[in-house]
Amino acid sequence: MRTIDSLGDLSGKKVLVRSDFNVPLDAEKNITDDGRIRAALPTLTRLVKAGAKVVVMAHLGRPKGKVNPDFSLAPVAARLGELLGQNVKLAADTVGEDAHRLAAQVGPGEVVLLENVRFDPRETSKTDSEREELAALYAALADVYVSDGFGVVHRKQASVYDVAKLLPSAAGELVFKEIDSLSKATDNPQRPYTVILGGSKVSDKLGVIDNLIEKADRLLIGGGMAYTFLRAQGYEVGKSLLEEDQIENAKAYLEKAKQKGVEILLPTDNVTAAEFKADAPASVHPADAMPAQEMGLDIGPQTAERYAQAIADSKTIVWNGPMGVFEFEAFAKGTRAVAQAMQDACGFTIVGGGDSAAAVRTLGYDETKFNHISTGGGASLEFLEGKTLPGIAVLED
Ligand code: ADP
Ligand code: MG
Repeated sequence: MRTIDSLGDLSGKKVLVRSDFNVPLDAEKNITDDGRIRAALPTLTRLVKAGAKVVVMAHLGRPKGKVNPDFSLAPVAARLGELLGQNVKLAADTVGEDAHRLAAQVGPGEVVLLENVRFDPRETSKTDSEREELAALYAALADVYVSDGFGVVHRKQASVYDVAKLLPSAAGELVFKEIDSLSKATDNPQRPYTVILGGSKVSDKLGVIDNLIEKADRLLIGGGMAYTFLRAQGYEVGKSLLEEDQIENAKAYLEKAKQKGVEILLPTDNVTAAEFKADAPASVHPADAMPAQEMGLDIGPQTAERYAQAIADSKTIVWNGPMGVFEFEAFAKGTRAVAQAMQDACGFTIVGGGDSAAAVRTLGYDETKFNHISTGGGASLEFLEGKTLPGIAVLED
């Protein structure tokens, strides 16, 4: 993968950067988690210091190809300016008159931001020629292109894929770090290699399970998906999240794991409640005695302890998907136990998945104690599935 070094001296050069600024906003348009903006800083500060003229493009939300002020990048421009310690001007459009005016005016070491690339339907078009037409307009704004929006590199979109073909292009610091870290799990991982899978559904994670069952030594399963696996083993799961149509798949995975000598750990106890509610009375039950009228909303303390031990014993650990409904404090203990064990682990720790990364932050863990917390939910999953990511492939030599 080509890196920024390959672009040579950037002083006075106009550099078009694709960043991922798709941050959550509250009703007053305040940014509630600026993690993605912070993750873009290494590349942007490097370019600023190199004296480049920086033009940044990004998307926010799903404006569906229409200009819509609700999805304006204005809050991002303001926050980015604060974090960089310099003014960041926002163009009123994406590739229109104002974008051209600002891109023409930007000075060495200055940063301008174009308006939401998804205001233009061509950005995400399935028709190559439409995307290419827009990419040519992006390319006209700069001399070189840096791809740094890791959250979108699995998408064949104009600002991610097509524009990279039109200018000298390279991976930014974030994309480089993401691929470098995630590769530690996919290329010759240090063993024992443990994967913790959770989240709501088995069906969301089929690709990851397929791929990792070939590579990992141990698979720890929690979250909503655990109940389909427990059902596959013949346990009653009460009112827990259950995907009937995935029971056969789950059985096949359990069988395959046995053949490959991969250990699969399932919850031996669960925290259950009668309702999916923050204040629903919670109680702990062994997996073989789940109350028929209740649902499993978290792994139980015995399971949490076993999983923490397995994490402590591993040299490579990948975690995707919360162990329970961590958004409700009463059902966050399993997720906390895994986060704590990862934080304390000696092995190389990777967190992939949007909600898992959010859990680490919102539950108050120290992000710096994890080796890698991916900024791209879908992109990190597809990478771990072994898929080719178009936005990465286009940066290979
Ligand atoms: P990620 O974004 O990290 O890949 P997912 O999107 O797959 O994770 O899953 C996250 C969601 O799964 C969370 O919102 C959490 O509340 C939910 N979840 C976890 N355990 C359960 C459970 N036992 N029942 C229902 N939902 C669950
Ligand atoms: Mg998610």
